[in-house]
Amino acid sequence: MKALDQNQRFLFDEYPIRGQHVSLDECWTQIVAQSELEGRALTLLGEALAAVTLLVETLKIKGSVILQVRGTGPLGLLVVEANSDQQVRGIARQERAVDDDMTLQQLFGSEYFVITIKPGKGEPHQGIATLTGRSLAESLEHYFDTSDQLATRFWLACDKDNVSGLMLQKLPGNLSDGDAWNRVSMLADTLSMQELKLAAADSLLYRLFHQEEVRLFDARPIEFHCSCSRERSASMLLTLGKPEVLDILEQEGEVSVTCEFCNAHYRFDSIDIEQTFSESVAAQPSVSEH
Ligand SMILES: [Zn+2]
Repeated sequence: MKALDQNQRFLFDEYPIRGQHVSLDECWTQIVAQSELEGRALTLLGEALAAVTLLVETLKIKGSVILQVRGTGPLGLLVVEANSDQQVRGIARQERAVDDDMTLQQLFGSEYFVITIKPGKGEPHQGIATLTGRSLAESLEHYFDTSDQLATRFWLACDKDNVSGLMLQKLPGNLSDGDAWNRVSMLADTLSMQELKLAAADSLLYRLFHQEEVRLFDARPIEFHCSCSRERSASMLLTLGKPEVLDILEQEGEVSVTCEFCNAHYRFDSIDIEQTFSESVAAQPSVSEH
């Protein structure tokens, strides 16, 4: 029986090759329920989510990894985030109908995707990568190949109930068996999307690599979590500026901020708004004192 919502690393004992398996179930259906996506747009959101979940473990950072694409195509926005506490969230916005044979560049109306690594402490780091071909796995592999990083392969499968991903990475060091990387990758290429979706990590590894020595580590649970808050919504109101916020207040009777990731509503009445703006004035360093 396949366990739900988990991330599991594995290592080949005889070669410097490591891997990871991820399955998103309940946290994925939660995201699906909030989106109005279907077809290829939904698939891409799920695949991107599986990919960042794999990346946050691979990059061994404390913090989060965000993958985003913004463009002028039918799928104008996609943002997914996973953090080292194994929490994920994601959204995509579809503006027009998506054609099945569109390339990713046509679909997003952009040539690039951006990977942001946000460490718990310190400055975020951004990498820009080219959208290649028709699949996200292809684009990610191209990014790893061309950005001076370790050779890495991805297999991603997605439908409405589940997203599954498998990753293999060639570590530095000599392969005692020069053909091991190719052989292991080719074996993983024999996976059907259905197998990837249904099989648990241990049976998947047995099915693919039963002739190799593979060590499977303990699974780590993954959950849906959104980092939005009332405070963050308030600071968003501050960036809008007081006149604009008062305008909305006058028209609507209150100002409501809805988080696109989790649908949480944060409501601000006239007293909240006065308080938000007066606190921000108090927090600013005074220039009149010196
Ligand atoms: Zn939220």
